[in-house]
Amino acid sequence: APIVEARSLSLVYPTADNRPVTALSEVDLTIARGDFVSLIGPSGCGKTTLLRVIADLEQPTGGRITVEGLTPEQARLKRLYGYVFQAPALYPWRTVERNVMLPLEIMGIPRAERQARAREELQRVGLSGFERKFPWQLSGGMQQRASIARALALKPDLLLMDEPFGALDEITRDHLNLHLTQLWRSTGKTCVFVTHSIAEAVFLSTRIVVMSPRPGRILDVIDCDLPRERT
Ligand code: ADP
Ligand code: ADP
Repeated sequence: APIVEARSLSLVYPTADNRPVTALSEVDLTIARGDFVSLIGPSGCGKTTLLRVIADLEQPTGGRITVEGLTPEQARLKRLYGYVFQAPALYPWRTVERNVMLPLEIMGIPRAERQARAREELQRVGLSGFERKFPWQLSGGMQQRASIARALALKPDLLLMDEPFGALDEITRDHLNLHLTQLWRSTGKTCVFVTHSIAEAVFLSTRIVVMSPRPGRILDVIDCDLPRERT
């Protein structure tokens, strides 16, 4: 079964001035397990909204969506996905390691195992040696890597990322995209990645979902020519 399946999904935001904004309109989308899917399109076309609906951060006003065969709410409560925000959302009063341990703490995983798993995920994103630093002691790119490690802490099959490197300089972004590709290849996770960079989408994806600025429609789904074998 597909990991995400949306049928005729719509979302209309109510607004104060009574001019509701249509962010998603009759979206049909199937995301297969193991894919790296980029959502691209100009600002305001509904990319973030679609990601947030998958994550149960917004409720659709029409249509149906399942995540791992469940409702988004059930999937959220079972912690079936990890979410990475556009700006680093690390807690400044916790060390990097304790930020990554937080979701494990919430799930009641014993301390020793929490720490071992946090270290494993930090190593995966190339942050070994920075466990005891505070977020402000890291560069923006390192903070986003720590955010990815935190999103991976509960070992979700599905990783949702909303322009995770959008605020970083180009060189750092290229470097992190390379990291992300390696992570995707070595873990077999399903990734959904919001970007407005075609170059980034082409570099990373097995499928590119192109959204239209005429409210929230999918214009095209592009299967990339060279499906990358896992190594
Ligand atoms: P993208 O991520 O592609 O830039 P968004 O999903 O953020 O697009 O937004 C889609 C549309 O919905 C835009 O027109 C945006 O202004 C509008 N929108 C987003 N969030 C809200 C909100 N909370 N209330 C009202 N309108 C919103
Ligand atoms: P965007 O369209 O930029 O993705 P969001 O509404 O998703 O807007 O979030 C706005 C900012 O608030 C983001 O840059 C994100 O880093 C931050 N943010 C959102 N949710 C959280 C959270 N739970 N904890 C800390 N920061 C958050």
